[in-house]
Amino acid sequence: MAENTKIEWADHTFNPWMGCTKVSPACDNCYAADMMDTRYGRVRWGAGESRVRTKDWSKPRKWNRDTPGAFVFCASLADVFDNEVPPEWRADLFALIRETPNLTWLLLTKRIGNVLAMTSGIEGSPTFLPKNVAIGATMANQKEYDRDRIKLAHVTDRREVAFTFGSFEPLLGPVNLDHNAPDWVIVGGESGPNARPMNLDWARSLKRQCADLGRVFNFKQVGGRKSDKGGHTLDGETHFERPMVPA
Ligand code: SF4
Repeated sequence: MAENTKIEWADHTFNPWMGCTKVSPACDNCYAADMMDTRYGRVRWGAGESRVRTKDWSKPRKWNRDTPGAFVFCASLADVFDNEVPPEWRADLFALIRETPNLTWLLLTKRIGNVLAMTSGIEGSPTFLPKNVAIGATMANQKEYDRDRIKLAHVTDRREVAFTFGSFEPLLGPVNLDHNAPDWVIVGGESGPNARPMNLDWARSLKRQCADLGRVFNFKQVGGRKSDKGGHTLDGETHFERPMVPA
């Protein structure tokens, strides 16, 4: 994902594999792609390039024992619902998620239209998705929201999930929500040397709309090109709220 490695709205980050293809304006300054190009060189980004599976899958089991209730962001260096990921890898990931019921797994994707198809027919079940998954879509502007909010709602019509969330980060324009808005709205400006500016009024508007619609609002960062990323407050207030997880 384009976000930096410290994900303030989760407690842990787990990467089952690495590699992806840019599919959205929100991907333009993808942190993971830049990091692989400039520092790690372990994966080549793009269509037709191999995704690389990570070796150590033991940490989530430890978190499940030691930090019950924790939120796990999966994956920061890939997209779980990428078409070029072998389906068996996703099945292995879902098995791990089922093995760790004390954790809530945040699966954020820029390919929300793939979720239903990619969670059908696994292990003989037509509606398989572990219940301790929260499913999220990145929607960086009104066009993406208009296209993807219904797809996100369809996932919850057909799959039982902990909650839905929308990552409005990087927020690239004003967004008008409606009753299909996700349960949890995460807003943030882009950071890094090529950061595109976020108008704070766009974030203020989303905060007001969340209050009106009864959605949980989380403000991550102002963003910007400076190393302090512009701070983590909106008009002097922090908003690190999280949604309730069903028992
Ligand atoms: S979907 Fe996420 S990981 Fe993939 S290119 Fe876009 S920002 Fe990067």
